[in-house]
Amino acid sequence: MCVDNCPFGAISFSHKIQKEILSNISAIVIATGFEPWDPKIKVEYGYGINKNVITATELEKQIYTKGYVFRLSDKKRAKKIAIIQCVGSRDRSIDNPNCSQVCCAYGMKMARFLKEQDSKVEVSIFYMDIQPFGKGFTKFFNECKEDYDIQYLRSTPSQISQDKEGKIKIRYEDPQDGTIKKKYFDLAVLSIALNPGTKFEKLAENLDIWIKDSGFCESPDSMQVIKTSQKGIFAAGTCQGPKGISECIANAENAALEVILFLKTLKNKE
Ligand code: SF4
Repeated sequence: MCVDNCPFGAISFSHKIQKEILSNISAIVIATGFEPWDPKIKVEYGYGINKNVITATELEKQIYTKGYVFRLSDKKRAKKIAIIQCVGSRDRSIDNPNCSQVCCAYGMKMARFLKEQDSKVEVSIFYMDIQPFGKGFTKFFNECKEDYDIQYLRSTPSQISQDKEGKIKIRYEDPQDGTIKKKYFDLAVLSIALNPGTKFEKLAENLDIWIKDSGFCESPDSMQVIKTSQKGIFAAGTCQGPKGISECIANAENAALEVILFLKTLKNKE
């Protein structure tokens, strides 16, 4: 999308850097972003087998391209939608105890958008914990519950299956009494984790910069996280860890400023 919309034509995903250009580079900003976690790893949710289990990005794509949300099994409009939070995050069984930071906001905003589009649509959010986001979070959260009638269930589904008619069945533990319950939906939407990605790992190795246990870029300076462990190499955006769009934009501005300052220092030494 950004390739088509950049007014300067500055985005290229296929650009090859020539070796002679590389040798003249004084500063680098790494902004490689994140990779979505592969939801097929969570086999009990049946992503890739159950057509009506999709990711939040796929839900967004449906809205962007068709203007409404539908079941992939028969293209009928989805009237009962479940959003499952923390899929691939805060999960020691897959060796990722980290919170992906942005999916609570994303899931709630998505749920609210679905209700604004069609107030008759039923939306339930299965969650483990809520990561507060920004100013006005409590107000937003309460509005979602009270004004938009979005159902919150504090439980992590143990299994998601789909029957021949395309109905989705979610098994979960009732947070009130601990019994196993089932709920039926047209669509299950997975809020999947954000990963640093395998390409970033290779890049970090080549540039010899520090990475955290989570695989994201680590800064030696907690006050200036834009800096990496190598002079002249800076990092911005989600290659440092999960974060929202406004924080990424602020990071990019900060990185540009740091590069200018760094280049000035080099020039003064000449
Ligand atoms: S931001 Fe929310 S949904 Fe995402 S991993 Fe953290 S607690 Fe779970």
